[in-house]
Amino acid sequence: MVYIVFLGAPGAGKGTQAASVARKLKLVHIATGDLFRQALERGTELGLAVKSYMEKGVLVPDQITIGMVLERISAPDSGVGAVFDGFPRNLKQAEALDEALARQGKAIDKAVHIGVSEEALLKRLGGRRVCRQCQAPCHVSDSPPRVEGRCDKCGGELYQRPDDSEESIKKRLEVYSDETTPLIDYYRRAGKLLEVAGEGGVEAVGKRIVAALGGERL
Ligand code: AMP
Repeated sequence: MVYIVFLGAPGAGKGTQAASVARKLKLVHIATGDLFRQALERGTELGLAVKSYMEKGVLVPDQITIGMVLERISAPDSGVGAVFDGFPRNLKQAEALDEALARQGKAIDKAVHIGVSEEALLKRLGGRRVCRQCQAPCHVSDSPPRVEGRCDKCGGELYQRPDDSEESIKKRLEVYSDETTPLIDYYRRAGKLLEVAGEGGVEAVGKRIVAALGGERL
């Protein structure tokens, strides 16, 4: 049973790497952005509640986000352990997660911070396309799909996230810097931080993460 948090700016590759680690370690992958986007696609009450925040590139209120994650981690399948992707995104969420896990006699084991320069982030986000069906990302020039407009993994339709517009990207990077970067210190102080360089291809970064986690004998 292992609980891992992935930290990194939008476009750092958190989603791809978190999904891969979850698959390898047979853990549940909990990606709050994906959960919100699914709710939006389905037009649920949650989707309607989070729509305007997501479009603006600002954080969804903690009450909604924390409530959704706590419900998710109390589901039986999360008992095997989980990889958190895009959560926590501020100190309040990190503390709420620690408290909820502690109530179950569990704790976050490691926080992986994927560091990427702002220049690379802007390039990645501008060319990013995401599958409407399975949420897998690709990049128009760095990892183009085999069939244009279609996901390599499931054949679903690829689209550009509305919050990958230039204006939203700027806002999201600002929000990350103001609200989420304090978490790097939070997990460092707790002795749980693993710093990984996020420049380079998906495989190269994946190997660095596996090596960092492997060295921890989780
Ligand atoms: P992501 O897919 O992780 O980039 O998230 C997309 C958007 O979903 C963010 O810009 C926020 O509006 C919202 N979101 C995702 N995770 C969180 C979170 N932990 N707290 C608040 N809002 C979130």
